[in-house]
Amino acid sequence: MASTFSASVNQYVDRAADLLGLEQDIRGLLADPYRQIDVQVPIHADDGSVHTFRGYRVQHNGARGPFKGGLRFHPETDLDEVRALASLMTWKSALLDLPFGGAKGGVTIDPSSLSSRELEAATRSFTHAISGIIGPNADILAPDVNTDARVMGWVMDAYSSQAGWSPAVVTGKPLELGGVPGRVEATGRGVVSITASTLAALGQALTGRRLAVQGFGNVGRHVAQLAAEQGAVIVAVSDVSGGRCAPEGIDIPALLAEAVPGVLLHEVPVGDAITNDELLGLECDVLIPAALENAIDGTNASAVRAPLVVEAANHPITPEADVTLRDAGVTIVPDILANAGGVTGSYFEWTANLTAFRWSEERFNQELLSFLGRAFESVWVRHLEHQVDLRTAAYMVGMARVAEAVRLRGLA
Ligand code: NAD
Repeated sequence: MASTFSASVNQYVDRAADLLGLEQDIRGLLADPYRQIDVQVPIHADDGSVHTFRGYRVQHNGARGPFKGGLRFHPETDLDEVRALASLMTWKSALLDLPFGGAKGGVTIDPSSLSSRELEAATRSFTHAISGIIGPNADILAPDVNTDARVMGWVMDAYSSQAGWSPAVVTGKPLELGGVPGRVEATGRGVVSITASTLAALGQALTGRRLAVQGFGNVGRHVAQLAAEQGAVIVAVSDVSGGRCAPEGIDIPALLAEAVPGVLLHEVPVGDAITNDELLGLECDVLIPAALENAIDGTNASAVRAPLVVEAANHPITPEADVTLRDAGVTIVPDILANAGGVTGSYFEWTANLTAFRWSEERFNQELLSFLGRAFESVWVRHLEHQVDLRTAAYMVGMARVAEAVRLRGLA
């Protein structure tokens, strides 16, 4: 329900603001986006006709640094969705103590219906349309749903053709254009690390735990791969076409060899077939929604049997489902903590670009785990001290930092 997405996020913002005792004027400032633009994205299609799409960039709050956030291509993306995702980025960056504000971008487009040339044309057209408000010290883009390193390379080139060499305007780039080794896996690596930390805090180990992962894109496939390498048993994975399952654990290397990007899981002959609905209700130790928002809502939340749900996707649980799950005793690790490995890795890439220094993958992964470890600790401590759920604790940590920056800058 895209029309209520930003209102859903604001419910969490309000709850944390109440507990923090934030003043009314600061609350108003934090709930609203700083700037939102809605642009026309025209392209010449391969048949010579002109197609136009809509594109959005929302800059939510920049009190702590330049705006930062991904760019998604999806046929159902709209301004409300992008506004909600921009708000999540503000709290996520602050929770990780990164020197960024929050932003998000989207183009209402179905990339599977476009040729590679048309996709490039749409990327360049959108980048030109927003070029006045982005930049290495203004607003930095990154990959999200249906966008990848190739798309980020086009963004970088389109912006640099106007402004001069500017790799730091976008992260998640190809290595040859200033990308850093480790960034592609960073979101998935972070999800696995936060899952392991949560299990450890609950007195359990990741090794031997049975995980079900919904979504097999950049985030989901790395979660499955890295968790399996660390001894977890992946009992099911899925994508938009459906999924594969095996009660004794899927042979993940065999699956990855078959399910290369572009191949859908329903075509892959590894394990047994399973639907997305069945996956969500599977008996397992950890459920990891890593596809799209609102995957678990009022209609299916009561079917969830996992005692721990880790939000690898942004906002995969509606507020209604959040209540149902918590009432059933399910522990939920919120998106702004669970998938923050992505923006943290982007911060390293941005830093590397601004200083023109090449990071090793070893240093990247080491720093990533340190940043995530500190963030997890701050959330867990707040959760225990205030006797609140992990989502509320995470919002409280992030919002307190943004509110303080707002006050210190004299903005409110
Ligand atoms: P992606 O486009 O690479 O993959 C999305 C996956 O979800 C695909 O496997 C697709 O088939 C599947 N999917 C789509 N609709 C589905 C449906 N209805 N049911 C089941 N599966 C479905 O996207 P991604 O980059 O992996 O992002 C996934 C989620 O993680 C999004 O919520 C995104 O905002 C979030 N996220 C991504 C990053 C990143 O670095 N890429 C960082 C933080 C958060």
